[in-house]
Amino acid sequence: MIDSHTHILPNKPNKLIEEFGEEKVLLEMFSNEQKISTPDELMESMNLNNIQKSIVLGYGWTNFSLLQASNQFNLNIAQKNTSKLIPFFSINPMFKGNLEEMEKCINLGGKGAGEIHPSIQELDMYEKNIWKDSLKLLQENSLPLIIHSSEPVGHMYPGKGTAYPENIYKFIKLFPDNTIILAHWGGGLLFYELMKEVKEISKNVYYDTAASSFLYNPKIFELAIDIVGSEKIIFGSDFPILSPKRILNEMKNLKEQDLMNITEKNIKNILNLN
Ligand SMILES: [Zn+2]
Repeated sequence: MIDSHTHILPNKPNKLIEEFGEEKVLLEMFSNEQKISTPDELMESMNLNNIQKSIVLGYGWTNFSLLQASNQFNLNIAQKNTSKLIPFFSINPMFKGNLEEMEKCINLGGKGAGEIHPSIQELDMYEKNIWKDSLKLLQENSLPLIIHSSEPVGHMYPGKGTAYPENIYKFIKLFPDNTIILAHWGGGLLFYELMKEVKEISKNVYYDTAASSFLYNPKIFELAIDIVGSEKIIFGSDFPILSPKRILNEMKNLKEQDLMNITEKNIKNILNLN
């Protein structure tokens, strides 16, 4: 079993602010005692939940030195725990050194980019020019991009942002050949896959289940399988915000084949882990 959406931080948020200065992710997402995890705590939780591998994602950093430090941390930890951790790296196409940083991370074993956070990073998702080089590099290396997405309705939460289905869809239309994983069920974009043109454009799009228990009724699992098929759904917890146990429990009545696709097979195919 693979948890495809977990986060670790290179240090405590207040220490990172001391070292790198005030930064939007740290201020907006970690201001009120948000849970954070060390790599050891993550691996302990994996053992308890029978999870063999986890993808450690980056955040939507707005400070380039912090982005680089966080990437290096993920790569180092994963190198020390190759059987357990799969490193992704943060990107921010607004920074001048972004492409070089991406190349460096790819050479050091980074398996994908993200989780980018369009609102916090103030990224224009409609502007192809900002993105085209980064997306080309990812495509050339068969690496996915994971994007934080959120619902245009419902309750607020730290870091919710405005990467709504409408915005995300425009981005996907610009890069339909890239493999894109939309976090948090794509903010609901998957429901629009009932529309023929959305389904067609989204053929390389996957949806992860991160933080699902905080957002949706557990019925979403069966509904989502019905709409997009279990081949397009990827299990992610959003640990340490949410324990993988809770999401796995919500999936326990799914058909074995669906569960296998969601918790293992799809992500292995994307990352060529077979
Ligand atoms: Zn997210």
